[in-house]
Amino acid sequence: MKKLGFGLLRLPKLAGSSHIDLEASIPMIDLAISHGVTYFDTAYTYNEGTNEFIFRDAIAKRYSRDAYTITDKMPMMNIEREEQLEPILQEQLVKCGVDFFDYYWLHAIGGPNYERAVKSRAFEHLVTIKKRGIAKHIGMSYHGTPELLDKVLSEHPEIEFVQIQLNYLDWLDKTVQSKACHDVCVKHNKPIIVMEPVKGGTLATVPPEVEAKMRAMDPNMSPASWAIRFAASQEGVMTVLSGMTTLAQVEDNLSFMDEFVPLTEEEQATLLECAEIIRGIVAVPCTGCRYCVDDCPMNICIPDYFSVYNTIKRFEGMYRADVVNYYNNLKFAHGKPTDCIRCGMCESRCPQGLPIRDYLEEAGAFLERA
Ligand code: SF4
Ligand code: SF4
Repeated sequence: MKKLGFGLLRLPKLAGSSHIDLEASIPMIDLAISHGVTYFDTAYTYNEGTNEFIFRDAIAKRYSRDAYTITDKMPMMNIEREEQLEPILQEQLVKCGVDFFDYYWLHAIGGPNYERAVKSRAFEHLVTIKKRGIAKHIGMSYHGTPELLDKVLSEHPEIEFVQIQLNYLDWLDKTVQSKACHDVCVKHNKPIIVMEPVKGGTLATVPPEVEAKMRAMDPNMSPASWAIRFAASQEGVMTVLSGMTTLAQVEDNLSFMDEFVPLTEEEQATLLECAEIIRGIVAVPCTGCRYCVDDCPMNICIPDYFSVYNTIKRFEGMYRADVVNYYNNLKFAHGKPTDCIRCGMCESRCPQGLPIRDYLEEAGAFLERA
């Protein structure tokens, strides 16, 4: 199996919509499969519940069942009772157009979702669906502290795989603690699936100083390639999920993951130096996962405002006029950052643990002056 997995969350979207453009996505998926990529990742909640249909139409309907593996996830953020589990699982099978899942995870375990999973007996349900042959392998995606991860894996040895956020920017980050979470997985002998290797695109466009360091290592490799290869080089990593948005990104990913060569220790050390530089520039370390937006009572497009704010801060005015126009368009269609009523709903959903309310206040004040 290739170390490159295809995350379907960030496929290209239809203009003005959060739904995916199937026609534009199919050539990307076909190219990946023609190069031996078999691991595809979807979830119940992605793209307002439509991502599983894209998997069905682009892959399940067009390829034989042995040409791919699919990972799907039980949306623990939506689960309060055991009775919800089986109907959602059955709905997912239908939406994906498959009889079984190769890999099936509890989605976003960590914090309140672990309590939900215990209360709703979701771990027990996982074991039964494996026995029934509906899932070949079971596991969880995880956002939380290494201490809680250690506790969950100690209490639930039935978990076979763990999906964690891992990239060179978060490796030693005090909040995300990628390395510490990675080390817990290794200690428990659990294969790792990496999510956010490029941190929602943050590591695909790096500051000039960082780019120069990368070019000095190899002038032909893209910034994204360094991020993905860093993740794939770590012990115990089975697959690195890349959420590709363009055909060019698929081509770039395949160019270095077709025949994957792990990074040297010196290269990894240089990337950790790059992380320090980037950390000093990124205003809001948001990955753009959008877990926070659905329940906002003020319809605030939180990650879009953070993206605008990061862009203006990072490029110090280079694209300012375009970005400010974009900001004004966002305000027209959504609530403004300053419309936030500080209910805190978004923060309970954020896997990065960001103080979203404070960041919105800061970004809103800055953008209104821009
Ligand atoms: S705290 Fe603000 S941004 Fe977050 S959900 Fe509530 S209103 Fe929306
Ligand atoms: S603020 Fe948090 S939940 Fe919202 S998109 Fe960013 S990282 Fe994801």
